[in-house]
Parts: sequence; C-alpha cells; structure tokens
Amino acid sequence: MSRMNLKRARETFPEIYERIKSQSPEHHFEFNDPFWVLITTIMSHRTKDEVTDRAARNLHTRYGTADRLSEASYEEVLSLISRVGFSKVKAQRVIDAARIIVEDFSGNVPDTIEELTTIPGVGRKTANVVLADAFRKPAIAVDTHVHRISNRIGWSKTKNPEDTEEVLKKIIPEEYWLGFNPMLVEFGKVICRPIGPRCGECRITEFCEYYGKLQKEESSKKKSANKGKK
Ligand code: SF4
Repeated sequence: MSRMNLKRARETFPEIYERIKSQSPEHHFEFNDPFWVLITTIMSHRTKDEVTDRAARNLHTRYGTADRLSEASYEEVLSLISRVGFSKVKAQRVIDAARIIVEDFSGNVPDTIEELTTIPGVGRKTANVVLADAFRKPAIAVDTHVHRISNRIGWSKTKNPEDTEEVLKKIIPEEYWLGFNPMLVEFGKVICRPIGPRCGECRITEFCEYYGKLQKEESSKKKSANKGKK
C-alpha cells in the first residue's frame, strides 16, 4: 500500500526524479550483453559493485561465452569469483545458469520475466535488471537501495521488494522505468545511504517523509529541553 497519497506521488515524481538525478553519479554498466548482464547480476547480491564487476570481468575473460562457462570446473570458477559474497553458492549458480541458457534456451537469454525466473538464482530483481539493462525493456528492478529509498521518501510502505515494485509501477510513468534503478543505486551509495543518510546535502528533503519525521522529532526535543529550563 502506498504511504504517500497516490495522486501527489504521481504529480511530484518528475520533480523528485530530476533532483535525485542531479546529485547521483553516472552508473557504470560493465556489460550490455544479456548473458553477461545476467551473470553479473546473479553475483551482485550482498557484494559491492566494484567486486562484482571484477569477478564478472574475470569470468568473461576466461570463458567468453555461455557455452564455455557451462562446461567450466567449479573450482576454477570459484577461484575467479572468490571475493564476491556467498561465492561458493554463486560459483555453482553461474555455471548452472550458463548450462540452462545453452540447453533450454538455445544459448539465448530469454527476454521475459516468466522465463528468466525459471533459472535458479534468478528472482524478480535480477530478471528486471536483465530486461532493463540488456534488452532495454521497461522494467523496475527493486534492489535494497530502491526498496529502502522508496520507503524513506514515502512512495511505499512495504516490507519486501516485490510489493515495492508493484507500488512504484503505479506511481512512476513508464518512460522513467529504464534508468530508475541505476540512478537510485548511485543515490543510495552517496546520499541516501543505508546507515547515516546525508539528509543535510539532499535536494529532496521537502518531499521526504523520513526527513519530515526527523524534523518533527528534533523540534519536540527542543521544546522539551526549553520547558526543562523554565
Ligand atoms: S532527505 Fe534523507 S532520508 Fe530523505 S531521501 Fe534525502 S537522504 Fe534519504
């Protein structure tokens, strides 16, 4: 359920989008080939982008194609991606994903959410990243940054990314979907950080429920302190 009034959320979205964009660094895309976008995104969970990108480059340099990765040895893949989080699980996942792409999809990454999510280790977020970043199809990938920031601003009041995606689809005009995740990822790294958001530097404070709440708390603390002095 949307926390912010839907009409207001829709009306204010373009202004908020422009302001967030104006203070978010350009997102770096390591690959645009669907297979390597898929492999990179499978490895990205709980891992810094720089570490994920390096691991994906290692795999790309060593194997190059889905066919070759599907026949790779587990130990060798593990050694190439050892710095990513949960590398032991992900080493098997990327080999399995490559095998499924080769065997079930004739070597071509599918371009529908239904087919993508049949691949083990591929949830809605990964599938939406592939659709948006590789196939340029309108999709909103909700990762931890998008989920957190949407709830702080007040667009959503949700417990999980799937519900956030549903709410955002109602608020955000489709022409904004493609660049939305990469922009919020960067905004979440530099301004609206998971711990210690930099509200003092943020350009959307007047639209943000979290900030409004902080201000109210501050002002009631000041009032209590002043009462104590009298
Ligand atoms: S005001 Fe603070 S909490 Fe709200 S979006 Fe900006 S940084 Fe995040």
